[in-house]
Amino acid sequence: MAKINASYRKLAAGYLFPEIAKRTRAFSEANPDADILRLGIGDTTESLTPTIVDGLSQAVQSLGTPEGYSGYGDSEGIGALREGIAEMYAGTSIHADDIFVSDGAKSDSSNIQSIFSSDNVIAVQDPAYPVYVDSNVISGRTGNATEGVYDGLVYMPCTAENGFFPELPSQKVDIIYICSPNNPTGAVATHAQLQRFVDYAIENKAIIIFDSAYAVFIQDDSLPKTIYEIEGAEKCAIEISSFSKSVGFTGVRLGWTVVPDAVTCEDSEPGEIKKLWTRRQNTFFNGASNIVQAGGVAALNPAGKEEMKQLVSFYMENARIIREGLTKLGITAYGGDNAPYVWLKTPEGIGSWEFFDKLLEECHVVGTPGAGFGPAGEGYFRLSAFGHRANVEEAVKRISEQLKLG
Ligand code: PLP
Repeated sequence: MAKINASYRKLAAGYLFPEIAKRTRAFSEANPDADILRLGIGDTTESLTPTIVDGLSQAVQSLGTPEGYSGYGDSEGIGALREGIAEMYAGTSIHADDIFVSDGAKSDSSNIQSIFSSDNVIAVQDPAYPVYVDSNVISGRTGNATEGVYDGLVYMPCTAENGFFPELPSQKVDIIYICSPNNPTGAVATHAQLQRFVDYAIENKAIIIFDSAYAVFIQDDSLPKTIYEIEGAEKCAIEISSFSKSVGFTGVRLGWTVVPDAVTCEDSEPGEIKKLWTRRQNTFFNGASNIVQAGGVAALNPAGKEEMKQLVSFYMENARIIREGLTKLGITAYGGDNAPYVWLKTPEGIGSWEFFDKLLEECHVVGTPGAGFGPAGEGYFRLSAFGHRANVEEAVKRISEQLKLG
């Protein structure tokens, strides 16, 4: 008799974004003339840049020739791409051998757990990108949820009071997820804040899984772009990152994970965690698409990097427009200066799903309710800076003119 993985039944509710899509669809069906603007899901909107298009096209052309054809490649990724990514870590101890290319940060952030014991205690920032929680629920590392809060999971609240970066957990935890720049709050951890977590992890033989998917959006050079800028991080941290937001690869799919030789936990030798991840990837993954990897190599050449910078500036200008518009209305808004997300305090203390409905009904604008990212997200709301400029301006105009504030 086959049995299902009953942990799936513990999942508190539908995944956040399908729920947003459902409510938006229902509104759209009831109001077919409404022109809905979406600043909800953090999906990129601008087209691929010319250097990347060239890189992708050349790879396709080459595959059409006998000499240029290649089949399966190393599951770790092609050498030129691993070298190019490693250059982003210049000044740290990371080298190309530590880079594992993948089809994106989402899958890596859940797949990485399979190399750790199922009785590890997991700590997450609250609010957090939902995948960290849901994937650990599915893997059986939590109990049941009561009102969206899972037994056995350690929530590290990120609030306005602590600048949206958590205190160290008060109990011993084994695996800690940190996302900086943060989705959804837009906050970026400082060197000192990360150093506290690295010191904690080394002392407690814990592992930090650091998600740097938005690192290129950091404008303030004094803030760390990778956890490996922090002393000792190579002994306790695995970093996961992505081409999705930096160059618009959300549909193209390309990411990477960094596993240094030195990283260890309670019962492993240096080098062993890296070997396990290599084994895991060799077993379950046949490598990212060779065409897409060529696009990644192009993205990291000098012309590609310049275009990336311009694309990032474009989205950051959107973020500025959104944050400024909200502030003018007297709405308290955070983030948006080193991250493409603006995290606003819902006006008049209304609930975040209630604000979702209000914004949709009064302004025909879709955003993301903070509560969907964890209990501490209640009372907050995320607006994404990924959008065409005209849409972002129109959304801000509508919010300014049509949102009914008491
Ligand atoms: N990590 C964070 C924090 C994200 O916000 C996202 C996407 O929104 C991802 C990872 C997913 O990245 P990818 O498209 O590479 O799977």
